[in-house]
This record gives sequence, C-alpha cells and structure tokens, in this order.
Amino acid sequence: MMICPVCHKEMTEEDFGGVMVDICKSGCKGIWFDWCELVKLDEKNEGLGKALKEAIEYPRTNNEDRQQINCPKCDIPMHIHKYQSAKEINVDECYACGGFFLDSGELRNVRDNFMGEEEEREYCQKLLDDMPGFKEAQADSEKRKSRSDALMNLTRYVRLSYYMAGR
Ligand SMILES: [Zn+2]
Ligand SMILES: [Zn+2]
Repeated sequence: MMICPVCHKEMTEEDFGGVMVDICKSGCKGIWFDWCELVKLDEKNEGLGKALKEAIEYPRTNNEDRQQINCPKCDIPMHIHKYQSAKEINVDECYACGGFFLDSGELRNVRDNFMGEEEEREYCQKLLDDMPGFKEAQADSEKRKSRSDALMNLTRYVRLSYYMAGR
C-alpha cells in the first residue's frame, strides 16, 4: 500500500485500461505515476479522465510552497520542477525510480492555463534538460527516448484536463 507523500493517507491503486495509477482518494487527490506506467499511457486510456476530473474539481489543500516531498517508493527527496510561467505546472519527479507526483491544485492550474502543442513541446524539453546529468547522458539514446516518451505522455495527459473541465 502506498502512502501519499503529501498528506500521508493511504493511496488507492486503480487500473485505468491497463495503466496502474495511485490516487490519494481519501486525502489530497494527488496522483502518483510510475515511470513504466507512464510509458504505457496513451490516448486510449480514457478511463483515467475520471481520476483527473476529480483531481481538477478538488481544491488544493496543501500549501503551494510546500516542502520537498519524499518519493513514496524510494523514500528519498523528490525533485520539484518549478517554473516561472503559470502555464508550467510544478511536477515532482523522483530521479531514482522515475515516478511523478501531481498535486490536485497543479491540475487546476493547468485547466486555467492551456498550453498549445508548441508550448507543450518546449515544456517537455525543459523537463528533460532539467535532470542532473541528463545532457551528459544523451549518448545513451535508449534512456533518453524512454524518458522523453514518459514525459510526453504525462504532459499530454495533463493537457487533457483542459478538455475535461468542459471548456
Ligand atoms: Zn494526499
Ligand atoms: Zn522513487
């Protein structure tokens, strides 16, 4: 059983068309994505929209400037991707296992700040370049590609929240 890294409640594992995601149902409605699950995520996983909708409608409960959280899997501090533009959500990423944590409030933010495809690509690139030692590891093209795929899927999924909100 995974414990929410933000509010420390038990998270619920849900299967959305073959993609397993942990959701903090009884707490902050944050969503945890495993690296390998993220790679599997594609447009066909419409069922995920339910979890997303809940997360969008749920107001942010934790402090926007909250402290670094520990990875619920590895128990080491996660890296916070923080950017200036309001369009760019602050995702937490564990460089050890590649997992991501999304706060409900962060998804809300995405709804209010729609990203175009070009912006989405730039944001993805920024996330990629942000990883320590990642530029150096570019020769390792296999690693680069899977990380890039996972991030693209995450961004695309998060962008869905715009449509989910019924705008
Ligand atoms: Zn929580
Ligand atoms: Zn981890």
